[in-house]
Amino acid sequence: MERVLRGLPASPGICAGPVHLLRWEVPEVEPRLVRDDEVAAELARWRTALDAARARLRLVRERTAQHAGEAEAMIFEVQLEMLGDTSLVGEVEGFIRERRAAEHAFDLVMLEWKRRFDRSPNPMLRERVGDLTDLQIRVLSLLLGLPDRDPVVLPKGTQAILVTHDLTPSLTVQLDREAIAGLATDEGTSTSHVAILARSLGIPAVVGLRDATSRLAGTERAVLDGARGVLVVNPSDEEVAGFLRRAEETAVLEAELRAQAQLPSTLADGEAMQLRVNVDIPEESELAAHSGADGVGLMRTEFIVLGRAQMPDEDEQYRAYRRVVEAFGGKPVVIRTFDIGGDKLPVGGFPSEPNPFLGWRAIRMCLDQPELFGVQLRALLRAAAHGDVRLLLPLVVSVDEVREVRALLGDAVRVLQARGANFRAAVPLGVMIETPAAAVAADTFVQDADFFSIGTNDLVQYTLAVDRGNVNLADRFTPLHPAVLRLIRQTVQAGARGGLEVSVCGEMGSNPLMAFVLVGLGIRTLSVSPRALPFLKRVLRAVPASAAREAAEAACAVGTAAEAERIVRRQLRAAARELPAAELGLLDPDQLDMFPRPGSI
Ligand code: PEP
Ligand code: MG
Repeated sequence: MERVLRGLPASPGICAGPVHLLRWEVPEVEPRLVRDDEVAAELARWRTALDAARARLRLVRERTAQHAGEAEAMIFEVQLEMLGDTSLVGEVEGFIRERRAAEHAFDLVMLEWKRRFDRSPNPMLRERVGDLTDLQIRVLSLLLGLPDRDPVVLPKGTQAILVTHDLTPSLTVQLDREAIAGLATDEGTSTSHVAILARSLGIPAVVGLRDATSRLAGTERAVLDGARGVLVVNPSDEEVAGFLRRAEETAVLEAELRAQAQLPSTLADGEAMQLRVNVDIPEESELAAHSGADGVGLMRTEFIVLGRAQMPDEDEQYRAYRRVVEAFGGKPVVIRTFDIGGDKLPVGGFPSEPNPFLGWRAIRMCLDQPELFGVQLRALLRAAAHGDVRLLLPLVVSVDEVREVRALLGDAVRVLQARGANFRAAVPLGVMIETPAAAVAADTFVQDADFFSIGTNDLVQYTLAVDRGNVNLADRFTPLHPAVLRLIRQTVQAGARGGLEVSVCGEMGSNPLMAFVLVGLGIRTLSVSPRALPFLKRVLRAVPASAAREAAEAACAVGTAAEAERIVRRQLRAAARELPAAELGLLDPDQLDMFPRPGSI
């Protein structure tokens, strides 16, 4: 077997440990009939499996409550209820009485229930399909006598490398960080939300390995290098030593960079920059606040909902937002309203729409559910009383959406006033430019929006028609494509004409090479992953605006992303030549992926 499995870098860091293989996939079931005199035994076998599955779910719920929280554990409460549903149990037993084997009977019922839920007009029911799949895997594994595939059985301190096909919300909430040192998945890319979450949690991760789960037996040891996107199976002692040496060197370099990260964010000619950070979970805000950031450029609020069975109430949301605001004491904190949908379905959901990325996602879902949205808006306005909060709307395509949000904000203000709550009514309202529609028509927003923030992850996806999470398309996800650069330039120009700040908060900005181009296109505010910030600040402090402008012009003038990359890389190396050799080396193609990076670059 090939020992070096290559995937895509998702979250930097090196770890070594035993492989924990998690095959969380629905097993194949052969349709099978039993004899009349076997029916009683089949019924007993089904009931035993049902009891065992419920006992295991209770255990999972308890463990999740302990290390992730009660709210996160609710997802398993819901699954327990489903498994105890009398009509579900009745239907399975009905099929068994018709002489179907227990696993065949259960599988038939699950297929029918999933089909029914999937077609339901009720979105909450559609989102339950993921829970049904979880139950299907759990019960069928028991009935078929397959190995225990549950991730929760890892003892603390195992330091295992979890290898799985894809990370679903229900698996994510079970991740015990004291037992799991690294993550490796067959699916996903560096801009898929698994990767974003792994970075937030600080767990080294490689995604897009394609077939790691079928190549591995689960008995191996491995070394994972999240920055390079490799998983080395059964490494020799020398290989492990080599990886650990590199980890130490990186740690030393990062410590040096962090020490300088408190310097002001400027370009070499003194022109001011705003370097903010992306915060995905409130718990990371205190650490992120010490990364030398000038504020938060994007808080992805949907991560506080991920994997939960119910939306957090107003007070819980208020506390989460307030924590981030207070950690950044007075600096700008841009909080984005829920971007639920696409590959970010909460409440155990798998995408249940035919085209989730073109579907009922983000602002569309929020505007269609004013009650749910109202809770978030009120929590945000209350958190705004504690600092410089700015609201950001995801996946906007038309100015009508911004106007509707303003009306809902008015409602939220009235409710809070009537309640005598402590809040701030006047909060800037920004629009994410992450669809070609919003970029091309950016000028139509300037009267109604207070700022723009370009979401390059989606802008690249929608402009190039490349699914950001599809491993087969990862090398086609090219932010330096002329179409993308032109849309960014157009947005910057529309913003400048309307006197609006235009920032970039997609992963593109975390990569120094791309940030150099963005600065050249006129961007002066970037929001990046906290880990990427120190080096980015260092590079930008070494390059003058004029060099960035020249690079951007050259990149816009060529026909392909690959050509643009070659030119820009040469120009950045020349512009940043004052940097010490070790840091200049980080700008090399194979080193740059030490940092979160979009697509192939
Ligand atoms: C983006 O699309 O670039 C972005 C920042 O939002 P998200 O990655 O959460 O979709
Ligand atoms: Mg987006």
